[in-house]
Amino acid sequence: MAPNFDFSGFQDPTLPRVVMPKCATGQQLKGQKALVTGGSSGIGKGVAIGLGQAGADVVVNYHSGAEEAEKVADEIRGFGAKAYAHEADVADEAQVEAMYARMQEEFGGIDILVANAGLQQDAPFDEMTLKQWNKVIGVNLTGQFLCCRAAVRAFKKRGVVPEISCSAGKIICMSSVHDLIPWAGHVNYAASKGGVSLMMKSIAQEVAPYRIRVNAISPGAIRTPINEDAWSTREAYDELMKLIPYKRIGEPDDIARAAVWLASDEADYITGINLYVDGGMTLYPGFESGG
Ligand code: NAD
Repeated sequence: MAPNFDFSGFQDPTLPRVVMPKCATGQQLKGQKALVTGGSSGIGKGVAIGLGQAGADVVVNYHSGAEEAEKVADEIRGFGAKAYAHEADVADEAQVEAMYARMQEEFGGIDILVANAGLQQDAPFDEMTLKQWNKVIGVNLTGQFLCCRAAVRAFKKRGVVPEISCSAGKIICMSSVHDLIPWAGHVNYAASKGGVSLMMKSIAQEVAPYRIRVNAISPGAIRTPINEDAWSTREAYDELMKLIPYKRIGEPDDIARAAVWLASDEADYITGINLYVDGGMTLYPGFESGG
């Protein structure tokens, strides 16, 4: 039976945006230093603000959108935490190394990496150019490799500081439901996220003895610029709802809450998992009535 309430969550983009409630968090990350890549918009912005609200000092990495990144850093400073915006292309080794060197100088180290930066360049498979393939793999997979490697080096060098956290460091890779669900027309993106998922698990296995936790969040459809086509009109939104048993689109704050928890000591025994935050998108909704 269909639910007898309307909580579609559709927001006409021509009207003022409904403000979603902010993360209800305590100060469970106080004193910790976090880096969020791609923190100037969408999920990265939500996560950076969520970590700041939970007491962490935050580096807001951006590649484009300097002004927006500065605003995010400002908002975090408003919670009493430290924050600054840093421009770097996560696919560029030298720029990633320089970003970590500055973080060491300004914050004295890193406790939490959220490797979030990502993009799509879609095309039918037989029309996909090598440039499109390399761009998406470069940012989404190699970019996460470079950022994770630098974080693990820093975590191993410093080790556990019990007053800060019971683990030496935490990594959260932003994956996608498309590390599991194939996606026609987006072969480069799905391959990058499938790669992120097994990269994350392999790193987790390797560094667990150093008390380093490595996990992924695999979001479903979250309302951000990357997928505006899927939620900005009533028709598109209704189509999208066919894929989401929970019958609402996700908000960046849904991911922020999961990230804060996963980065906190409350999740200390959790490593090597994909946390699907997707309103049930991975529950094969087509089988609700078919099959
Ligand atoms: P978005 O476009 O709002 O954010 C992506 C961010 O990555 C932007 O800030 C962009 O500037 C940054 N970025 C792109 N290339 C970069 C580079 N070379 N170096 C540094 N930063 C770079 O989209 P979003 O939805 O917030 O996406 C964030 C992450 O979440 C991505 O990894 C995406 O694949 C993933 N994701 C999003 C959804 C969704 O429904 N929105 C679902 C699953 C996974």
